[in-house]
Amino acid sequence: MSLLAGKTALVTGGTRGIGRAIVDHFVAEGALVFFTYAGSADKAAEIEVLHGGQARSFQADAASFDRAHEVVEAIVEAAGALHIVVNNAGITRDNLLLRMTEAQWDEVLAANLKSVFNYTKAATKVMMRQRAGAFVNISSVVGLGGNAGQANYAASKAGIIGFTKSVARELGSRNIRANVVAPGFIATEMTAALPEAELQKWLQDVPLGRAGTGADVAQACAFLASDRASYITGQVLLVDGGMG
Ligand code: NAP
Repeated sequence: MSLLAGKTALVTGGTRGIGRAIVDHFVAEGALVFFTYAGSADKAAEIEVLHGGQARSFQADAASFDRAHEVVEAIVEAAGALHIVVNNAGITRDNLLLRMTEAQWDEVLAANLKSVFNYTKAATKVMMRQRAGAFVNISSVVGLGGNAGQANYAASKAGIIGFTKSVARELGSRNIRANVVAPGFIATEMTAALPEAELQKWLQDVPLGRAGTGADVAQACAFLASDRASYITGQVLLVDGGMG
């Protein structure tokens, strides 16, 4: 049987990169997938058509607390359940600390960390009623080791780890699990923006000798979201080719 057959999943930021790969992989594994996006309405419509009813989208700024609750309510109304939430939406606004603006700090913390609170909080009541649920939150190796020029991003990604471990402890008795996937260097539009020299510097530190793909991350997410991981919670799984 498919890994996620019978499950309803929500993926934030599902139109591009890692989130898109997660949507595709979860559908292939039998899940009904709802996904959000910030602005890529055309891409979202394409994905819906491609998956013929197994993937449905919402335009929703992940930083909005109220919108997160509306999205979760709409999913429960449509599907009657919500078993899996993958908090994937994220942005970078890189700058050295000396030059980092307050707006760059606030935007990254809102899109990357507050968003995880928003969707976890909105889905928790539903999962408590079901007495089952799984959160998979996308952090980064940068959240563990830091990175010059990314103090805002690293803080948001480290925050996700502390948040997830706390949720795992709070909700474990309700059969709700919460885990983190920390990708290393994954080839997406986010990393395509890096200068070639920086890219080569990153790749030198990868024992497997290549950048990861969205599918590499999606497979780890599917495992942690599935019943095969039923005794795993509060963990951080690095999907980084061995660089961590
Ligand atoms: P990406 O290619 O830039 O795609 C980002 C996705 O998130 C898009 O679907 C985008 O929607 C959506 N999004 C952005 N801001 C949003 C917001 N405020 N509300 C709702 N959706 C929003 O990024 P990626 O490389 O796939 O990264 C995905 C996640 O993995 C992020 O959390 C990132 O920090 C993490 N990560 C990435 C890497 C890497 O090497 N790429 C490594 C470690 C961790 P639109 O298309 O509408 O803009």
